[in-house]
Amino acid sequence: MIKEQPLTAARNGNGVKPSKRLAYATSRESTPANIAPSYGHFIGGAFVPSSSGETFETTNPATGEVLSRVATGTPEDVDRAVAAARKAYEKYWQPLSPARRAAYVYRIARAISERSRELAVLETLDNGKPIKESRDFDVPMSSAHFFYYAGWADKLDYAGFGPDPRPLGVAGQVIPWNFPLMMAAWKLAPALAAGNTCVLKPASTTPLSALLLAEIVQQADLPPGVVNVLTGAGSVAGAALVAHPGIDKVAFTGSTEIGKDLQRALAGTGKHLTLELGGKAANIVFDDAPLDQAIEGIVNGIFFNQGEVCCAGSRLLVQESIADLVVEKLKRRLGTLRVGDPLDKNTDLGAINNAAQLEKIQELAEAGEAEGAVRWSPKCVLPSHGYWFPPTVFTNVSPAHRIAREEIFGPVLSVLTFRTPEEAVAKANNTTYGLSAGVWTEKGSRILWMAGQLRAGVVWANSFNRFDPTSPFGGYRESGFGREGGRPGLAAYLDV
Ligand code: NAD
Repeated sequence: MIKEQPLTAARNGNGVKPSKRLAYATSRESTPANIAPSYGHFIGGAFVPSSSGETFETTNPATGEVLSRVATGTPEDVDRAVAAARKAYEKYWQPLSPARRAAYVYRIARAISERSRELAVLETLDNGKPIKESRDFDVPMSSAHFFYYAGWADKLDYAGFGPDPRPLGVAGQVIPWNFPLMMAAWKLAPALAAGNTCVLKPASTTPLSALLLAEIVQQADLPPGVVNVLTGAGSVAGAALVAHPGIDKVAFTGSTEIGKDLQRALAGTGKHLTLELGGKAANIVFDDAPLDQAIEGIVNGIFFNQGEVCCAGSRLLVQESIADLVVEKLKRRLGTLRVGDPLDKNTDLGAINNAAQLEKIQELAEAGEAEGAVRWSPKCVLPSHGYWFPPTVFTNVSPAHRIAREEIFGPVLSVLTFRTPEEAVAKANNTTYGLSAGVWTEKGSRILWMAGQLRAGVVWANSFNRFDPTSPFGGYRESGFGREGGRPGLAAYLDV
């Protein structure tokens, strides 16, 4: 059903003037998120204030509204959290029978499923992503991780890790804002199943779903201190956590820049380290590809989660003979994307998570134009409050342009062309990253050959952005090292 609606002014953007247009009737998610006015850290099984007594705001990026206040983590808070995790490791978690550990991890999985609606709404409010994505992707993928690793916990002796695999001890885990709950699940589930205890620090712009997860951990009755959640700034709480001598393993997901700093800072400390960093994935479309399916894959590859995805298909490499046709079809499809209220179940693209990220996207898009690429966005009217950027496609892109080399982490696609499979491989590998790639072709032999040639941790064939807890995920080169998911994800938390 469609109806006429008055529209608000475009705020950031694509130069489209507000005008009368046909808007789709909305269908808003109405489940309450039950957000408390303030939250402490979750340390030793209880919510406690910061040692400084200070708090900071977390806001809804789609509206600017303050959602809650959370504790500002200090080095003293980190001391407390690490001490709680150490005590829990020695007293409760490590001595516990693996079958009991499995049961606890399973309880967390079940509680996530039971509270899935509430978690989805909370994630959408704090992050800005469309409700259909948090409902159908983030939350189910998070519970799936706990379910999957619960199954490993009592089978470690038979998993081919050698005799008597041991947990590493206390894990310090730092996560980004793009998939806050799912990143927490990717970190906590394998660590707990392997017998480690954890101190998790969510990103400062998206602390709420990790705090709700802490509540779930409390309700699942995990021994106190097995999971601790500490909120605060990366430069203070994050830095103190990874540097803490009581931490045995650092697991970091975030920007390549901070990842490199961590690698330098941890050199010689003997701590285990895994890094999941940035990407600049190529999505490669051959002239024999199933085109309509490929167009959907291109759109999903770069506009899923507003392109704020480390493995986003941000470089479209399309075979020259079909490039014009693909761009034309792509533009037509982008014209149908709905950008706006993230709580509307029909929304395809929500808000950008924070002001700094929006500025980075704007700066790189301007650099793209300045360097001679051609910028295009469909007509769309962006909400007047919050952080917004329209879906954007650049053609006439040269491999030397910044938009072809740098991670934008936003809804911006750079289109490049190739003539031969060899040229496609050379262009795809012409990056300092190596996280993921996509290949679209009907030829099975070509898929296998490409998968062997592409320097990327994941290669999707005739699909993109597909995830499963059983599949290891991770990168090469400046995309980091170590794998999350599957058996390798467990090995990253074991001494074997
Ligand atoms: P970021 O590096 O700014 O922050 C990530 C986390 O690190 C946050 O919790 C932050 O508070 C913390 N942090 C910041 N400085 C720190 C320091 N000095 N010491 C310890 N912790 C510190 O990244 P972001 O902006 O939150 O996330 C976006 C980036 O994450 C992108 O580059 C994206 O590609 C990457 N990412 C990678 C993956 C992957 O699996 N490879 C997944 C999601 C996001």
